[in-house]
Amino acid sequence: MILALDQGTSSSRAIIFNKNKQIVASAQLEFTQIYPQTAWVEHNPREIWNSQLTVAQQALKNANLIAADIAAIGITNQRETTIVWDKTTGEAIYNAIVWQDRRTADICERLRAEGWEEYIRENTGLVLDAYFSATKISWILENVTGARAKAEAGELCFGTVDSWLLYKLTNGVVHSTDYSNASRTMLFNINTLTWDEKLLNVLNIPKNMLPSVQNNAHNFGHTAPEHLGAAVKIAGMAGDQQAALFGQGCYERGQAKNTYGTGCFMLMNTDELKHSKNGLISTIAWRIGDKTTYALEGSVFIAGAAIQWLRDGLQIINNAAQSAQMARSLPDNGGVYLVPAFAGLAAPYWDMYARGAIFGLTRGTTSAHLVRAALESLAYQTKDVLMAMAQDADTELACLRADGGASANEFLMQWQADVLRCTVEVPPVVETTALGAAYLAGLQVGFWNWDELKANFSHFQTYQPQNNLDTVEKCYHYWQKAVKRSLQWID
Ligand code: ADP
Repeated sequence: MILALDQGTSSSRAIIFNKNKQIVASAQLEFTQIYPQTAWVEHNPREIWNSQLTVAQQALKNANLIAADIAAIGITNQRETTIVWDKTTGEAIYNAIVWQDRRTADICERLRAEGWEEYIRENTGLVLDAYFSATKISWILENVTGARAKAEAGELCFGTVDSWLLYKLTNGVVHSTDYSNASRTMLFNINTLTWDEKLLNVLNIPKNMLPSVQNNAHNFGHTAPEHLGAAVKIAGMAGDQQAALFGQGCYERGQAKNTYGTGCFMLMNTDELKHSKNGLISTIAWRIGDKTTYALEGSVFIAGAAIQWLRDGLQIINNAAQSAQMARSLPDNGGVYLVPAFAGLAAPYWDMYARGAIFGLTRGTTSAHLVRAALESLAYQTKDVLMAMAQDADTELACLRADGGASANEFLMQWQADVLRCTVEVPPVVETTALGAAYLAGLQVGFWNWDELKANFSHFQTYQPQNNLDTVEKCYHYWQKAVKRSLQWID
């Protein structure tokens, strides 16, 4: 069996997969979200580690297995979240600063003023933003008493959550990360595949704090025997979205996956590095053997969250699943469009002054129309990003693989296929993130080979575009018109 450790933003999970890629057992623990100030978000690194270890032990117990039954461990994690720890004690010197945390926006403004934006885009593939790890490390070094001196003396380690877990699992023997996680730090040069000296310099981050960067399928080390009862090989690692791309079997150029959760996360395998002209991020998907595979990434802030708003804000549905039934009760959308720009708009618009809006209301509009408009908006936002991706990658989208909570909505998946004019596929195992980490580890230790990984993709639920091209083109036209009118709303 393969044990996947899936360390997410709100919970730690462990899932055990058998050779047929089925889930044998799993365990999950939520942990504390810490909000010390407005726009600050932290996690306790010790709680991350303890919860992750507990669920790993629990999953083994639930499956009635021992460590010797596990061929390898794969790790996947919330990306960008930053931890700095002391080499001697193995203890973090500050809480983990979570990807959502905005405290370093002013450091980004300074870098922007100094003209670093273009350099960062070209060399890290990222947009200059507080979201990524680099400025968070800087903040810790400047604000935690004694941190700067210790860092200069080579006594501190930085890591994203993958590195932290690896360090703890190996009792401090291994300090490494993988290419996918490294490429989210805003310190890693994705052209040369090395830590970027210029960025380290300008942010005053000593290179000796950084982990070594390894392939995604790699023998990272062994767990110290006391954790799981015996040593287990750690052989796979990837950030959550890249892991999902791998778990969805998007191994070829032009293949893409979309995770329909609170927001949407879309990644397209571009094979080689493609820089975006349309507000997307370029990132390393994975490196296996001597081959580095790149991806384009775009996100949408409000997706499933719009459905939560129907339930909690408007109270016109009782649960998310009911939305499909209400949408289907109508022959069409009645000309009603909802732009869920509740927090501004992300890719490809990047307008933080946009706000949510509803267009096309008439006396005939009912709550069912609002529900349908909200669901349709997920499909249109996805199309917006995918069109930008296809343009940047200079490739046609053959098919979209979907996962995440809202991929259970059949109305939405059908409408998605209709507006994209391509097949939408939902896999039998929607735990694609954990599956991706398991695949990487399994590939490394020979538990699966490439053919076996590829062979899995026949049990998808597929949605084909229906013969309604005129209708969907008209709808997408109105959607674009609606977006235009919601941009720059806040003065
Ligand atoms: P996250 O990982 O971001 O917490 P999940 O993948 O667990 O998200 O998905 C939860 C989101 O999916 C919620 O925002 C919820 O509103 C939405 N959702 C869940 N089921 C459905 C459904 N049947 N139809 C539409 N949206 C749904």
